[in-house]
Amino acid sequence: MAEALILGPADPAYADTVRALNRRFTGKPDEVHRVYDTGQVVAAVARAVRTGRRIAVRGGGHCYEGFVADPEVSLLLDPSGLASVEWDAARGAFAIGAGATLGAVYRALFKNWGVTVPGGSCHSVGVGGHFTGGGYGVLSRRHGLTVDHLHAVEVVVVGADGQVRAVVATDDPADPHHDLWWAHTGGGGGTFGVVTRFWLRSGGTSPETALPAPPAEVWLHAVTWPWASLDRDGFDRLLDNFGSWHERHAASDDPYAGLAAALLVPTRAAAGISLRTTMDATAPDAEQLLRAFVAEVGAGVTPAGPMTRDSGKIAALPEAAAPRRLRWQWANQLAAGSDLGLRAKYKSAFLRRGFTPAQRAAIRASLEYAHPDAQLQLDSFGGAINDVAPEATAYPHRDSVLKAQWQVYWADPADDDRHLAWIRSSYRAVFADRGGVPVADAQLDGCYVNYPDVDLSDPDWNTSATSWTELYFGANYARLQQVKAHWDPTDTFRHAQSVRLP
Ligand SMILES: Cc1cc2nc3c(=O)[nH]c(=O)nc-3n(C[C@H](O)[C@H](O)[C@H](O)COP(=O)(O)OP(=O)(O)OC[C@H]3O[C@@H](n4cnc5c(N)ncnc54)[C@H](O)[C@@H]3O)c2cc1C
Repeated sequence: MAEALILGPADPAYADTVRALNRRFTGKPDEVHRVYDTGQVVAAVARAVRTGRRIAVRGGGHCYEGFVADPEVSLLLDPSGLASVEWDAARGAFAIGAGATLGAVYRALFKNWGVTVPGGSCHSVGVGGHFTGGGYGVLSRRHGLTVDHLHAVEVVVVGADGQVRAVVATDDPADPHHDLWWAHTGGGGGTFGVVTRFWLRSGGTSPETALPAPPAEVWLHAVTWPWASLDRDGFDRLLDNFGSWHERHAASDDPYAGLAAALLVPTRAAAGISLRTTMDATAPDAEQLLRAFVAEVGAGVTPAGPMTRDSGKIAALPEAAAPRRLRWQWANQLAAGSDLGLRAKYKSAFLRRGFTPAQRAAIRASLEYAHPDAQLQLDSFGGAINDVAPEATAYPHRDSVLKAQWQVYWADPADDDRHLAWIRSSYRAVFADRGGVPVADAQLDGCYVNYPDVDLSDPDWNTSATSWTELYFGANYARLQQVKAHWDPTDTFRHAQSVRLP
């Protein structure tokens, strides 16, 4: 076992570890501890407690906000040395080191055992943040969220007396640590302790059956409706068709459970609105179903053309205007993503129904913005995600049919104010009648904790009576606070939107 590596600002590897993917955020810790086993994590946390240092953990560095890069953090834990993906025969589950990235997990699970987890598409996302916040991807309508496959977690925690220890918490309701497991099914990263290992299992007790198998092949399809061909009515129809289709096909036994689509709605400075679809090619009549879906989304709108790299930099995918059939592992890698060194800001909303006419009008108005790398992305939701009760996991959003994500990317820090102003005002306008945020009601259901947004805690931007805690966690917040009080009574693990002590 390698010795823990302690890096300071003079070490060449330091800069890469303290810098987040989102270039708005770079930390300044005195020490970075690169750790390779649980004992080293216990030692590093004990050192932080003993010396009164604020601590944070970095997983894949993909956090949307600057939680890890907080200037008050002086000891940063980097568990990238704890990244193995193994079959643990004793637990009958896959043991995944908390420093692994999604891409490494997908490769190891599929190559060795033919199975997968229904996680996100970006391969450099870390499991440390992703698994603790929910973990959604193109297989989620078929197989639920990643947390729906979480069997156990090992967490390094700090007691009221300052003692540091590692505990294993499982999904067994008889486990005295069960609540700590539950808090890791959507309570978000950086709140209860340092996760060192996740165990995943949802099926049988052999490695080939413990997790779902991905479809052997999928259809990929991507088209764009150019702005030049979209009048006001065409814009409204696209959004309305996409929303109503998802309302009608949200059941997990629907023939379309194997379909996941993203409607990418960029500003008018990009080429047009794109529809990117993945469909399980092994499902009965898959190709016909896919073609019918694309036709329904585009019904009443000028026919779409091929999606090209000009369709907006962030929307780029290889052309697939005619459906292309690919093996799962290749399709999965196409969307793997890369670090373009950009600054970014994001916002989210869950939708139980499609957008209202007033919301569509607000979205349309916000797209008159002379910057091509800004968009609203609408993702397919529902299916197996909604078969789980909202209180069964800490992640509560179990009856939405769409997930909406506003995004803006830029390179020059001098442009921060203008792009932040754009995304803030665009979002506020859509939810103008609810205090600027997607307060839960018959149509909306709050925000995704894995897409954190500090504006939700800012009274200037959230003028509703609904706090950020309720937007992320709904009725589950009270139980999360109890878990926090029990397992992190000194609030050692905290950030701008971590679960608060009761
Ligand atoms: C390009 C991109 C694509 C994405 N795609 C998807 C997607 O398809 N689906 C989806 O659901 N989400 C997606 N996300 C969101 C992603 O799930 C979250 O940003 C996630 O929190 C990132 O985890 P990380 O470990 O990479 O980030 P980090 O910034 O390293 O960590 C995020 C938070 O988790 C904490 N944390 C990390 N490791 C640990 C640990 N071991 N123990 C305790 N706390 C820890 C950190 O302290 C921090 O608070 C995407 C994000 C990006 C940037």
